[in-house]
Amino acid sequence: MSGRIGFVSLGCPKALVDSEKILSQLRAEGYQLVASYQEADLVVVNTCGFITPAVEESLEAIGDALDQNGRVVVTGCLGERPEVIKARHPSVLAVTGQADVRGVMEAVHEALPPESDPFTSLLPSPGEGLKLTPRHYSYLKIAEGCNHRCSFCIIPQLRGLQKSRDVGEILYEAFRLVASGTKELIIIAQDTSAYGVDLNYRASEFQGREVSADLASLAGELGALGAWIRLHYVYPYPHVKELIPLMAEGKLLPYLDVPLQHASPRILKAMRRPGGAKSHLETLACWRRICPELTIRSTFIVGFPGERDEDFEQLLDFIAEAQLDHVGAFTYSEVSGADANRLPNHVPQEVKEERYERLMVLQQHLSLAKNQKRIGTTLEVIVDDYGEVPGELIGRSKGDAPGIDGTVMARSDGTVKIGDIVEVRVTDADPYDLQGDVVGRIQ
Ligand code: SF4
Repeated sequence: MSGRIGFVSLGCPKALVDSEKILSQLRAEGYQLVASYQEADLVVVNTCGFITPAVEESLEAIGDALDQNGRVVVTGCLGERPEVIKARHPSVLAVTGQADVRGVMEAVHEALPPESDPFTSLLPSPGEGLKLTPRHYSYLKIAEGCNHRCSFCIIPQLRGLQKSRDVGEILYEAFRLVASGTKELIIIAQDTSAYGVDLNYRASEFQGREVSADLASLAGELGALGAWIRLHYVYPYPHVKELIPLMAEGKLLPYLDVPLQHASPRILKAMRRPGGAKSHLETLACWRRICPELTIRSTFIVGFPGERDEDFEQLLDFIAEAQLDHVGAFTYSEVSGADANRLPNHVPQEVKEERYERLMVLQQHLSLAKNQKRIGTTLEVIVDDYGEVPGELIGRSKGDAPGIDGTVMARSDGTVKIGDIVEVRVTDADPYDLQGDVVGRIQ
């Protein structure tokens, strides 16, 4: 046994995948993972540094770990800005950047040398490592970094230009995950739709055939694995249209997470993002013509510098017309180092909050109307958890991603297990969630 490690994982699903890799390596080298600071010989904190509240949460988590344990290695997005961490917490043992498994392991080895020889340990292959999600769904990261330069974002500074993973490596990882019980693969990257551009779409081998490293080919192969395939963080490029027929054919889930961020062309230009309400609506209409059952999730920033009343009204009009299925919104907040900080005419906080409330109230009305139309229909639902009452299940339809979208609460005969896929007849709805009865089983 090499020593006991406490682990704190903050941030988005992309950070969660990095945590899984670090934890798998720690386990492979004989370190024991423990659930409390007191039991641990050392604590690793995987941080998020995307927006100011996330930076603050990360700095507080590091402070907690230092107070309660004292020996702390920091990694993750905020680790790309060691000066911020060292200024608040000079006693951390080491700071490494995001996705830097090797850097974390070097820091851990220095503070807590491994007892077993890592080269004689049985190292897990990618996809066979430790998972932080339930067995029935897994996040699959297909690229790191981003080639865009959105003015409110420092991810390209933190993570660098996009680096796509080899297509064969991704597919073998996906294959192993499905073989070991994963029923839903959630595909993530900073910009999933740009997959393969940096590889010049270089083909590689998967099960004896050549597969090109472009998103449509990758998605087609993933779709043949027999699991639910869900795409997140899709930038609204024209070529995304190529994926929609795969959704209509049932190879991919009819679900797209497309962060549009705004609808006013003036504000989108200031954000250095494409389009506006008119082109967004044309794109959505085109996708829905090909796949009418498509669920669309999007996120928006309200109160971006320079946002006038008329820009915000344009955003509300767009949301009313677009009839999006799931909407997330954030009030604009400064990110240290982002170009948008230098834009003129920042919006007062109370105006941002009032706009946020108006947007969310509008979306609640739209979501409630959409959900009420589902009463009486039958949906395929994957079971994530048990409810409080015997026989009660908490699951998600194909249109709901874990952790961010709605849930389906269903009554069953008590024989359904977590990870099962069942048919649920919907009996009731609120703006976010559905209720119903299990009426059949799929898997
Ligand atoms: S697409 Fe824009 S917001 Fe998303 S990671 Fe890249 S620069 Fe940031």
